[in-house]
Amino acid sequence: MIKEIQAKSALHYHEQKFATNWDVNIYRGCEHGCVYCFARYSHRYLDNPDFFGDIYVKTNIVEQLDREFARKSWTHQPVNVGGVTDAYQQAEEKYGLMPEVIRTFIKHRNPLVIVTKSTLPLRDIGLISELAKLVQVDVLVSASVLDEKIRLVTEPNSSPTNDRINMLSSFREAGCRTGVLLMPVIPHLTDSYENLNGIYHLARENQVNMVLPGILHLRGATREPFMKMIRASFPEIYPEISKIYSTGNAAETYKNSLRPLIRRLQSEYGPWAKYTPPEPMPEKLKEQQLKLF
Ligand code: SF4
Repeated sequence: MIKEIQAKSALHYHEQKFATNWDVNIYRGCEHGCVYCFARYSHRYLDNPDFFGDIYVKTNIVEQLDREFARKSWTHQPVNVGGVTDAYQQAEEKYGLMPEVIRTFIKHRNPLVIVTKSTLPLRDIGLISELAKLVQVDVLVSASVLDEKIRLVTEPNSSPTNDRINMLSSFREAGCRTGVLLMPVIPHLTDSYENLNGIYHLARENQVNMVLPGILHLRGATREPFMKMIRASFPEIYPEISKIYSTGNAAETYKNSLRPLIRRLQSEYGPWAKYTPPEPMPEKLKEQQLKLF
């Protein structure tokens, strides 16, 4: 069920190891339904356990973001749309908030990071390209499974992995930096040479700037539904997965066994750029922008 709500604030700061510390989330909850989703915790604050089914839409997000970008104290740091949930999930097809959100980024010349499991960003490529002419824009897809049968169980409402990675060449041509977040690699399910090599191959074909691999974590509320899914759909690997995840992190012995393959693929298909967050808006543009207001 979709519920419309009003955002009290748009920009949120979270200390992150990756991309940028600032995000704006248009939706709470996410229809992609990834069984390993770590963002489920965010529905606790709404007292609602149905993270995949009850989607909250912040219908005033554009006005709120515009106000916050206009503050003198805002330093034009890069902002990730969908730091918690995917901004290009199914509800976006109906609400179409992203085009106005991107226009707000263009108005304030603010660097943007998009992380998605959908091909819907192609709808907005014209606007994204316009922004990329002014400031840095990163379009990153999270993609870790080529086998459609497995994808439909583990992340049922995402776009097919091939399509997601293939769309990155259009964004590269549009002036964006592009990347594949090859995560989560799931032991004994998506860690085969065939699967990982296939993803690196697609990444190179689409000339992405970086591939960042990462192994599945099973922390907090993620663990129970994930293990339930493994038991129901892939019972043959259940005992091994239970051993590897006796804690929220994969066992070191497993990580050590996977590292040589990842290193080999990284060097075979690389070199990849080391991921560095987009630069804040350049000083020159800030001066130009001040003259506009
Ligand atoms: S796309 Fe991200 S936020 Fe959405 S369900 Fe999947 S892991 Fe969770």
